[in-house]
Amino acid sequence: MTDVTRRALVGGTAAGLAGLVGQAQAAEPAVAPSAQQPPALFGATKGDQVSLPPLHNDTEVQGPPPEGQPPARRLGVAVVGLGHLSLEQIIPGFAQSKNVRLAALVSGERDKARAIAAQHGVDERNLYDYAGFDALKDNPDVDIVYIVLPNSMHAEFTVRAAQAGKHVLCEKPMATSVADAQRMVDACRQADRRLMIAYRLQYNPVHRQLIAMTRSREFGPVRAIQATNGQNDAANGQWRQIRALAGGGSLPDVGLYCLSAFRYLTGEEPVEVTGQITQPKDDPRFREIEDICAFTLRFPSGILATGLSNYSAHESRALRIMAADAWYGADPAFGYDNLMLQVGRKQGRSNVVEQRRYASHNQFATEMDAFAEAIRAGREPHTPGEEGLADMRLIEAIYQAAAGGSVVRLPRVDGLDTTRGPVPAQEG
Ligand code: NAD
Repeated sequence: MTDVTRRALVGGTAAGLAGLVGQAQAAEPAVAPSAQQPPALFGATKGDQVSLPPLHNDTEVQGPPPEGQPPARRLGVAVVGLGHLSLEQIIPGFAQSKNVRLAALVSGERDKARAIAAQHGVDERNLYDYAGFDALKDNPDVDIVYIVLPNSMHAEFTVRAAQAGKHVLCEKPMATSVADAQRMVDACRQADRRLMIAYRLQYNPVHRQLIAMTRSREFGPVRAIQATNGQNDAANGQWRQIRALAGGGSLPDVGLYCLSAFRYLTGEEPVEVTGQITQPKDDPRFREIEDICAFTLRFPSGILATGLSNYSAHESRALRIMAADAWYGADPAFGYDNLMLQVGRKQGRSNVVEQRRYASHNQFATEMDAFAEAIRAGREPHTPGEEGLADMRLIEAIYQAAAGGSVVRLPRVDGLDTTRGPVPAQEG
């Protein structure tokens, strides 16, 4: 108790007492000293970065440190195409990013663009339509153009973005033909701009761990890899069911995740592929595109990989690597969250299955941050255009095998990771 309150309580009038008690309450600390935390627990601030001390023992998994950059030091991104992926994953992902900010929107629908801009604080002056897209060249607020359009539009907008002087992040599949993919690589090279294909899982901790296990032969040499990716799509006539817009059916859309995983796990390029497809023509979804695609890739080391994609069976997304001493993989393996790494092996007299969960972080935030870091450092992104081009060549080879009913042989490529840039620092 302070001297003021003690004097008031002993000898003051009622009015004076009330006034004095008011003053005394203002002077009292809000929390009794014994209940206060040591100041170090409130964190430390160095420049514009804040760090908090860990809450748990070292035996617990800690979250990633909060280390976002202030807006002026982030690269500005224009998102092109405001469909499911942009609205449900990419735009919300900016809230978890540290190196990028949402700077502009490109859409054919003005009202939609306005509504999304208002939700996310994008200035109306930074809204574009497809015809006015090239005016991005005069907008210094935009460093990167992120293309999230139907597959057949990726090439045109990548070329236009590069010519507007912007770096390009392009959704998968890179294009609908090898020729278009090559055109995209060439245009970005000519304009001296970086091109990254948005292979989000090559930046994900579960997949990075699977790559590390495979490359280190932690469980002995790998013999085979098996992957499946598919879901039951609605018969709604969406662009994925129109060959000219999609470039194919389940293979370039979801089968691509299996194909791509086989390549990044091994680091090798296949020397042989086979393929088979189904196309039930009485189902309106498959008038133009395949439903199921089953394919195999034979790698120079002898690893045989088998992939299966579809658009007509309940969601299933699994990846399993068969090594001499264990199997390991993930199930689910290819979704946006809840990826579960698994290892099955002998322990003592029994077989055990170990499951590992990692802290979840928006995969698009991680991927965009990695691209911004590569641009800032003046180096190739980990998944440049050449990585997408290699997958496009394999998609064409698998379709060729499916059409001809035989094995398609490919030129042997020596060395590992020949289409990839440096591995980015591990996130989360
Ligand atoms: P979507 O159909 O939901 O959105 C596409 C948007 O493109 C539309 O909303 C529209 O704004 C625009 N558009 C412009 N011209 C169009 C046209 N002629 N027809 C249809 N839309 C047109 O598709 P989405 O699921 O957002 O996919 C967009 C891209 O992102 C595709 O290349 C797809 O393969 C890719 N994708 C990637 C992932 C991933 O995990 N990386 C997931 C989903 C989609």
